[in-house]
Amino acid sequence: MTRFVFITGGVVSSLGKGIASAALAALLQARGYKVRMRKLDPYLNVDPGTMSPYQHGEVFITDDGAETDLDLGHYERFTGVHASRADNTTTGRIYSDVIARERRGDYLGGTVQVIPHITDAIKDVVVSATDGYDFVLVEIGGTVGDIESLPFLEAIRQLRNDLGHNQTMCIHLTLLPYIPAAGELKTKPTQHSVKELQNVGIQPQMLLCRSDRPIPATERGKIANFCNVRPEAVIAALDVDTIYACPISYHNEGMDQEVLRYFGLPFESRPDLSRWEKIVKAIREPHGEVRVAVVGKYTALLDSYKSLAEALLHGGIANNVRVKLDWIESEEFEKNGDLEKRLKDADAILVPGGFGERGAEGKIQAVKYAREHNIPFLGICFGMQMAVIECARSLAGLPKASSTEFGPTDEPLVGLMTEWARGDELMRRREGGDLGGTMRLGAFPAKLKPGSRVAEVYGQTEIRERHRHRWEVNVHYRDQLEKTGMIFSGMSPDGVLPEVVEYPDHPWFIGVQYHPELLSKPFDPHPLFAGLIGAAVRQKEETR
Ligand code: GLN
Repeated sequence: MTRFVFITGGVVSSLGKGIASAALAALLQARGYKVRMRKLDPYLNVDPGTMSPYQHGEVFITDDGAETDLDLGHYERFTGVHASRADNTTTGRIYSDVIARERRGDYLGGTVQVIPHITDAIKDVVVSATDGYDFVLVEIGGTVGDIESLPFLEAIRQLRNDLGHNQTMCIHLTLLPYIPAAGELKTKPTQHSVKELQNVGIQPQMLLCRSDRPIPATERGKIANFCNVRPEAVIAALDVDTIYACPISYHNEGMDQEVLRYFGLPFESRPDLSRWEKIVKAIREPHGEVRVAVVGKYTALLDSYKSLAEALLHGGIANNVRVKLDWIESEEFEKNGDLEKRLKDADAILVPGGFGERGAEGKIQAVKYAREHNIPFLGICFGMQMAVIECARSLAGLPKASSTEFGPTDEPLVGLMTEWARGDELMRRREGGDLGGTMRLGAFPAKLKPGSRVAEVYGQTEIRERHRHRWEVNVHYRDQLEKTGMIFSGMSPDGVLPEVVEYPDHPWFIGVQYHPELLSKPFDPHPLFAGLIGAAVRQKEETR
């Protein structure tokens, strides 16, 4: 039997519902259950692909090429289970599907309404492809009380009746603020938020309460009483120093035990949490520290580099060091000319993915600094493209080298890709076509050059990595660039699309067209991040 756990949030946003959901999934997994995770987002965008990283944070890409909410990244990092297109939907997608069906005449002249047509479409998404899973965890984005999330809540209410209470459970995440003047954790916002849920016909069976200190018995009793849940089902989600401590912390508060008890499953035994204990220990007790300068554009909103920051942390876990990240706005170099000052203490430099011309020159300068000063360097997607342009300009005698992303150019080192293969299928795009969902998206295979640094880093020559880009390094410049000492050490299997470049005579300099950060896990750090941080450790030892 597949059990559905719905996770809603109340009081305020940004309480970490995605991480809380992922941590519960990890706990169930640690007890041997098979878990799948899903996210329903209430906004009207069809997917987050066209949303600004400033507004919505990172766009997480799945193997099958869906542009999804960043919470799916947490799900994958906590469970190791790869998500798919079916695991994230939005109000926009639901409506656009229902309206397309209406236009096709599928509703046979009926009046198309939120209930039942939209709610039925939501229910179909929730239960689709869930056979064989013990648990499906469904997170509802937004905060209870928003107009937007009502159809999702209504669909959940109906599903509880359709599937039965023994197959469904609702968990509500709230906040218990501590008011210093009263010396108390306040329960009223939680009571109000649960009332909002009850108003739409949903009675949660568990409350997960974010708080900065343990919940005293009186407050716990009060919440249980007013919100109509068992006192044992009022779980404290205490502030922790690392998100990877959440599974252990929630277990200590009895969360997984209570979920299993609710479903009538055995809960007395202890799950095997050794994996999480090891990760937390590595984070809390590092044997040293390295500094990585991340030269990007959306550094003001770190959520836009969520997976990257996590992957760098994983690289630190692999090398038993703390990784200090120095987020640098690349435009700063252009304006202040203080590149040397900002980069001289870096043990490694990373230029991440990005879009558009703003800040590009600063990134190119950062690449040059890393190359000339023998500082370990990783360029990701846009960062790789800038590394190639830097090489062309500084070493190959092509001062006008540029990307057509920045406008027409005589030397299109990076050009618009209009055709590529996905398996046996040829994908095509028109210049000036739709922006949404038209990039080279998802996991593609690549072949690495035997004996290259990147092949050594991976320990194999056949890889599969996730992509999200519209432009591509122009393979016609390959010979000119290789004469300078840069080699094309990874290519698409048909040999047309450059995937990896490197300088064999630099201590560690790799540029990749794909996004390795999307595949890194705390218990399985991605080899490129483990490699970069390892090189940074060596760099630091040598320069000391
Ligand atoms: N803007 C570049 C492109 O579309 C790089 C994209 C990225 O870094 N994800 O090709």
